[in-house]
Amino acid sequence: MSDIDTSRLKSFSKLTAKSYNDQKALIKKVLLGRPMQCKSCRKEIQFVAKTTNSAARVRCKAGCTDIELDIG
Ligand SMILES: [Zn+2]
Repeated sequence: MSDIDTSRLKSFSKLTAKSYNDQKALIKKVLLGRPMQCKSCRKEIQFVAKTTNSAARVRCKAGCTDIELDIG
């Protein structure tokens, strides 16, 4: 697993610095295999591998957390 290119996330200026950092930390932990819970629905957050139709992402089972990853 290569490092995440988080530079593009910075262009999401609607994110506050705190939520940006929170999101970055969350992605890292999920990619490291830590069990993480969605703050909204309390369901498990998992890494979802890239498919032909969709980028790799980190999402909870309910879908309220759904972060697209900019990785190859
Ligand atoms: Zn959720």
